[in-house]
Amino acid sequence: MEFKMAGLNNRLERIKALLICPACGFSLDLGEAQARCLGCQKTYPIRNGKIFFSDVPQRDDDLDRLKNWLKKSLGKYYYTIGRDLLAPTFPFNQLTYLRRFLDPRSHIVVDAGCGNHRLHPDIICMDIFDHDVVDIVCDLKALPFQSGCIDAIVTRSVLEHVPEPAVVVADFHRITKVGGYGIHLIPFMYPFHASPNDFNRYTHMGQRLLFRDWTVIAQTNPTGPVSLILLSSIEMASIVLSFGNTRARSVLYLLFCGLLFPLKYLDVLFVNRKAFLSMAPSILSLVRKDHRP
Ligand SMILES: [Zn+2]
Repeated sequence: MEFKMAGLNNRLERIKALLICPACGFSLDLGEAQARCLGCQKTYPIRNGKIFFSDVPQRDDDLDRLKNWLKKSLGKYYYTIGRDLLAPTFPFNQLTYLRRFLDPRSHIVVDAGCGNHRLHPDIICMDIFDHDVVDIVCDLKALPFQSGCIDAIVTRSVLEHVPEPAVVVADFHRITKVGGYGIHLIPFMYPFHASPNDFNRYTHMGQRLLFRDWTVIAQTNPTGPVSLILLSSIEMASIVLSFGNTRARSVLYLLFCGLLFPLKYLDVLFVNRKAFLSMAPSILSLVRKDHRP
């Protein structure tokens, strides 16, 4: 990762003309240590190459704190080994999927709610938390981009965590170019998981309603019924065997994941099959912003 003491990192330098004040929509005067709005005069700090458009919230959930500590200390291995290998859900490569439609080197792609994971060196990473890989710290309800300037927005297990997903999706729609894409992976039959909150689940029909201003190009299930059985069994076993101790519950959860993860590969028989949308742990929607009269 490139590291500059002051000013924006190279990814933000490339797209700085697209950035606006999320409070009033005016353009920004970008300095070395802060961005100042030319409209409302609000200032936003720039530190370690990132712009902070919002304050970083506190964390108050045990499993969430543990997961966040793991994300920080393991870095990309949290995702490559933790999520893709050990977590009880069939692995899904969102970058490979994205590349079927766009090239992040020549298109402007934003990963909204990226966590501490960078999909590609040229993708703009945005999150409410200031993880190492994050370029823009902001609230997803008020995105610091001009209207119609982004080629694609990707999210992965993010929209269940925001209190007003329709407001977030509306701002995604505002900043996306006509003809631009949204690639959203959202849990459906998935246990509660605070990170820091967890509010919503969507069926494939529910996602169509959420993205009603977009053209839904494809919907698929990147995880299947075996993942569903594993997720439910591990959740139940760790609740029962921890006898109400939340820390023990988190440890048991990770232990069972480590023991049972190989079974998830049986899902190879069931992923990307329309019939299994009805009981999918998570559902992917590919949507496009089309011109509508
Ligand atoms: Zn402003």
